[in-house]
Amino acid sequence: MTNAGIPSWRNSGQGTMVRCALWLVTEVGVGEVFTKTQLREAFPETSQIDRRMRDLRVHGWNIATNREDPTLSPHEHRFVEMGAEVWKPGQARAKSATAAITGTQRREILEKDDHLCRVCGIAAGEAYDGGIETAQLDIARREVLKPGGKSVEMVTECRRCRVGGRGRQTDVTDVLSRLAKMSGVERELFAQWVSADRRDFSAMERLWGEYRSLPAESRETIRAAVDRP
Ligand SMILES: [Zn+2]
Repeated sequence: MTNAGIPSWRNSGQGTMVRCALWLVTEVGVGEVFTKTQLREAFPETSQIDRRMRDLRVHGWNIATNREDPTLSPHEHRFVEMGAEVWKPGQARAKSATAAITGTQRREILEKDDHLCRVCGIAAGEAYDGGIETAQLDIARREVLKPGGKSVEMVTECRRCRVGGRGRQTDVTDVLSRLAKMSGVERELFAQWVSADRRDFSAMERLWGEYRSLPAESRETIRAAVDRP
């Protein structure tokens, strides 16, 4: 194919996913093999370039790993097929909004989301507060703002949340920047919740309960201990 009219992948004014698409088209070429190292070396400033590349799949891009193509080594990819011309205004969104979700994708998303609505936390078949109506889970498309640019990700939502939240957007960049502002202790606690996928206040709450039940003199002892780092 001719590369006439295709913007340079080096232009940093574009999102990382778009630059990755342009890099594949102009530097790799359809049908060709490239290594993970080549990809990382082309985008040394992006720590999760593999993910940005995978984001292209939503837009119809086919990039094989050794799972789909056994002739590849685990460090190689093949650029099988180009999808939507995501560098053209409106293309990235237009394609993703119409792409159908397969049954397999649906099962995978539900499983990853623990079969819970990620907005209100209700499980399939559970009744809404005080109501007779039970929840039905659906897959929704969420527009996500990320450091690498905008993308669309699938998320489990109950029908009620989905109807109420059409066009909902998630700002991952903002979540990351708030995380960066946390103190070391806060971040460590947060990391524990993330790894357990559960918020556990109990140790601190038990300690708080015990502190509150202490006589004044003992409360003063605790207060002094807390003040002194
Ligand atoms: Zn919900």
